[in-house]
Amino acid sequence: MRSSTAETVLDIFSDKVVIVTGGASGLGRALCEELCARGGIVIVADINVEGAQQVATAITSTGGHARAVQMDVSQAESVRKVITAIASEYGRIDYIFNNAGIIIGAEVRDMSLDHWRRIIDVNLFGVLYGTTTAYALMIKQGFGHIVNISSLSGLTSLPIYTAYATTKHAVVGLSTSLRAEAAGLGVKVSVVCPGPIKTPLADAAMILQTRWEEVPKSLPLDKIAMDARVAARKVLRGVSRNRGIIVFPFGSRVLWWVYRLCPDVDPIGWKIVKNFRKARTEPDTLSRKEI
Ligand code: NAD
Repeated sequence: MRSSTAETVLDIFSDKVVIVTGGASGLGRALCEELCARGGIVIVADINVEGAQQVATAITSTGGHARAVQMDVSQAESVRKVITAIASEYGRIDYIFNNAGIIIGAEVRDMSLDHWRRIIDVNLFGVLYGTTTAYALMIKQGFGHIVNISSLSGLTSLPIYTAYATTKHAVVGLSTSLRAEAAGLGVKVSVVCPGPIKTPLADAAMILQTRWEEVPKSLPLDKIAMDARVAARKVLRGVSRNRGIIVFPFGSRVLWWVYRLCPDVDPIGWKIVKNFRKARTEPDTLSRKEI
């Protein structure tokens, strides 16, 4: 089951106590599987406890060490309870991957403030609750690594997913600034900014106008999206090297570089808006999904 890549970093995650939020699906699931394959003791935390249980059961059936817990990252108390219970049971937390996230496909003009609150509660406050609770414990321990999952859209623009990009930029700011603060206290902080990954994230997206569906249709996302397990390995390689910002694949690094060099060029934003223009001219007749 273990790949040669896994063997080279076995010692880093072996016997480490790791919490992965959003571990029931997609990248979170792949991180749980990969961490367990490397000998980690993994807490699969998710609002979807049945999904988390399935992941933990599949891992333990192959000899790994995993367990499921229910956690709603948008609720500070839910996050605090899980993290403190795990820390007191195992005596430490070595890593937390603040991975749980949602997406909304919508133009800003179609969004209510409640839509904004919903995505900020999960994607920003969810990461903040996990970060601050684990940080306090890790400072006491004198060690630990906080890994926050952002996105390439946390470094560039992503029109039509503006709310998502807003939260992901905030996660980058939180993580990079805290990294400097935490360094002298023995705590490491990394932020992960991947390009598209093959996961059910977009299927679960809240879509406020069905004309938005024109956007993914005209972008070759399924062609360029990475396998989740490959993405998980890239995340763990960056974490094991204590990288501050982990950006992959190579094409995403190039897009980030172009964006930094010349933000007005904005290759991703330009492409999305161009593809969206035709759909946008259609009348706004379509249904608004409620939260
Ligand atoms: P996914 O939908 O497969 O998994 C997200 C998980 O988060 C699900 O298991 C879901 O139940 C859980 N979740 C949602 N709300 C929650 C809450 N309130 N509390 C606890 N758990 C909750 O999506 P994914 O693609 O695996 O996304 C994982 C992370 O990776 C997200 O932060 C996402 O923004 C980021 N990301 C994804 C992509 C991509 O293309 N899929 C690209 C870059 C970054």
